[in-house]
Amino acid sequence: MNLKELYQEIILEHGKNPRNLGKVHEFNKDAKGHNPLCGDNVHVYLKLNGQKIVEDISFEGSGCAISMASASIMTDLIKGKNEHEAKEIVEDFLGMIKENPDLKSEYLKDDEKTKLMCLSGVKQYPMRVKCATLSWHTLTSAMDNSKEITNTES
Ligand code: ZN
Repeated sequence: MNLKELYQEIILEHGKNPRNLGKVHEFNKDAKGHNPLCGDNVHVYLKLNGQKIVEDISFEGSGCAISMASASIMTDLIKGKNEHEAKEIVEDFLGMIKENPDLKSEYLKDDEKTKLMCLSGVKQYPMRVKCATLSWHTLTSAMDNSKEITNTES
């Protein structure tokens, strides 16, 4: 299996069996996001504990396979990270999906980087980049307590 096939398989698998789908039992931060170009909607919930560690994170939403797989992979990777690490990972991912060839964050293990890199295939499609980044922008809004709906078009 080549890298491209592996990436496609990971996306398909997460799209079919999204991790952390549904509302977490207890959360103290949440935000909604919308990508009107594709019709993707996501609502991210997280529980940040007293040590600023993401104790729990989940999402609800509907949309294309890329947006759902990206939210699934994101929640998987962010769980257990502290707020500072989470923010750096978000920046690293957004940088990679827009222009950087690789992920740089020292907070990501190699297998976690592989999972994120499988979304790098969308780089050449600006419309798909919005699908892939929707949940990440929404996570940032949640951590920053933004009450506005994250919109990929504004
Ligand atoms: Zn989409």
